[in-house]
Amino acid sequence: MPWCEPCDKWRSPDALMPDGTCPRCRSQVDQGQLAVEAQERAAAKQEAAKIPWHFWVMVAAAAIYLVWRVIQGIGTLF
Ligand SMILES: [Zn+2]
Repeated sequence: MPWCEPCDKWRSPDALMPDGTCPRCRSQVDQGQLAVEAQERAAAKQEAAKIPWHFWVMVAAAAIYLVWRVIQGIGTLF
């Protein structure tokens, strides 16, 4: 949360002016913490987008199973 020194109040990021100033006193609000939070959110997003290892275990298991079924299918032909 950005802190406004002159108003002595927390300002929600949505309540700030588009240029990052306080809507009441028009002073630049310290957004250092906000930038850190945005970075953390971006990092968390990236972490979530990364494919987990157990997905590849399932892909490998499905591939092995399908290969086995193909071998069985070929076996029934002869
Ligand atoms: Zn202010």
